Order: sequence, then structure tokens, then C-alpha cells
Amino acid sequence: MAKEKKHEFAVRLLGEYCKGCRLCISVCEAGKIAIDPAPNERGIQTARLLRHRRCSGCLRCTAICPEAAIEIDRLETDQTGAQNDERPRQRNGIIPEKHG
Ligand code: SF4
Ligand code: SF4
Repeated sequence: MAKEKKHEFAVRLLGEYCKGCRLCISVCEAGKIAIDPAPNERGIQTARLLRHRRCSGCLRCTAICPEAAIEIDRLETDQTGAQNDERPRQRNGIIPEKHG
């Protein structure tokens, strides 16, 4: 019997690019993104990820971020719970075609 696969998504936030505009927070229905209360060395309160929230992979955050500061990776999980990293999505959510 073929293994049943489900997808999970890993979010990566590139803090060095974030300017704290909060657009990503406004579109994330999963509540995965929040603003860091502590300003960074540039005095900017950047976006940060909430570990206990689950990303649905909707890609709205990557689409709206003007700084291309968010990357989403799709992870494939089989019934054993093992995870295989799939090809990472490019910044701004464009998914490269899988070859081979
Ligand atoms: S891909 Fe969707 S659910 Fe995941 S962090 Fe971005 S907006 Fe939220
Ligand atoms: S949309 Fe981009 S630049 Fe704006 S707060 Fe989110 S990660 Fe930072």
C-alpha cells in the first residue's frame, strides 16, 4: 500500500530584510507571525514567528512582503513521521518545478 503523505510547512523569516511593516501579520490567518516587542539594532520592531502556531502554507505572507523577507519550505511527512525536505520555495513564494 502506498504511503500516505501529508505536507507541513516551515517558515523562515529573514530578519535582516524585515522593515517591520506588519503586512505579513495582517494576512496570516494562522496567527503564525507577530511583531517583536524589542526593537533590533536598527531600532525596528521586526516580525517574528510563533512556534506554537502552525503554518497552513497559504503563501500570503510571502506574496505581500515588500522586502521578500519570508521563505516557506514544504516538508513532506509519511506515515512513519519521517520528514523529507522538499525543494525550498523561492522568496516571494514561487515554487520551483521539481525535476527528476
Ligand atoms: S504561509 Fe500563510 S499560514 Fe504560513 S506564515 Fe505565511 S501567511 Fe501564515
Ligand atoms: S511583510 Fe515583510 S517587511 Fe513587513 S513585517 Fe512582514 S516580514 Fe517584515
